Amino acid sequence: MNRLDVFAQVTECTACELHARCSGPVPFRGDRSRLAFIGEAPGEQEDLEGLPFVGPSGHLVEQMFAAVDLPPLDQWGIANVVSCFPHGKPTWDHVHACEQNKWDQLTYLAPTFVLLFGDVALKSMRPDLGLKRGRGRPFIVRDLICFATYHPAAALRNGNYFDGMADDLATFKALIDAEDWMAFVPGTCAGCAVEADWYEDCGLGWCRLHLPHEYVAAYDARAALLAGDRDAARRRSAQERDDALAQVEAAADPLWMDQAWDALVAWLKTHPEFFCDDLWTTNLAEPREARALGPVILRAARENLMRKSGEYRKSARSHMSAKVVWQSLIFEPQP
Ligand code: SF4
Repeated sequence: MNRLDVFAQVTECTACELHARCSGPVPFRGDRSRLAFIGEAPGEQEDLEGLPFVGPSGHLVEQMFAAVDLPPLDQWGIANVVSCFPHGKPTWDHVHACEQNKWDQLTYLAPTFVLLFGDVALKSMRPDLGLKRGRGRPFIVRDLICFATYHPAAALRNGNYFDGMADDLATFKALIDAEDWMAFVPGTCAGCAVEADWYEDCGLGWCRLHLPHEYVAAYDARAALLAGDRDAARRRSAQERDDALAQVEAAADPLWMDQAWDALVAWLKTHPEFFCDDLWTTNLAEPREARALGPVILRAARENLMRKSGEYRKSARSHMSAKVVWQSLIFEPQP
């Protein structure tokens, strides 16, 4: 759909009763950009002007973006989850009715990063996430790197939300400037504060308790596999490792992940010269022998590091002592 088609679709929408109770649907503003943000719904001012984020929330966003050196609003695509002024909080029926409008607007804007303002915007992307743990961490939905924070209207009402939002925006700024969004994936479960021991491909980590139900069977199968196979995997010879890798690559995701990690550890123990701060991005990507380990191993290394070492993540961000942490991960028993 081109810009005019999307505009026409939203402004002429009558899919729910909200359009009859306001001045009319408020479509997106801005042009195609690598950055977009979406809020909950238009407010009174937005309803009058027919533009999103032109009221007090928009002014606060403008100031907070400037404070952390994020681009000004005219460099963003801007839209709402619900396009009509709801005179209060929109219901989930309104969110669902407007779902297609939201996606068509985002598809037209084609951002890389989407900032989600508030609980409704977050839940419209991942219904199983709440702001308490789901904010301030990147995750992928339909190839968009999403990042949630408080709604600016909440920050206007409550100073605690303001501070939290300012912290989140600073993290978001670092995220969009970084080369690898995975470096910003936290080590904690997205449902509570404990260390995550399962990661979805989209970057969300979970403990066993909060694991989304569709992953439970695979999680349990992997746990059973590891319980019986860990010692054997550690003693695996190079040939056994290669054989195992062939099987692992052929196996369904995610059962291969820890086998691949063990294979990588075995290989690194015989190639200490490859230890450095950027082990998995540089050294393992360059030498032909290391490259032969393949993308499966590189991904396993990355995801296992995410899971096993919060210390590594801090070090990797500051580029100070990742090498030391790598070595301790490989050579010292993990708790
Ligand atoms: Fe259409 Fe969305 Fe307005 Fe409902 S809220 S009428 S779905 S534009």
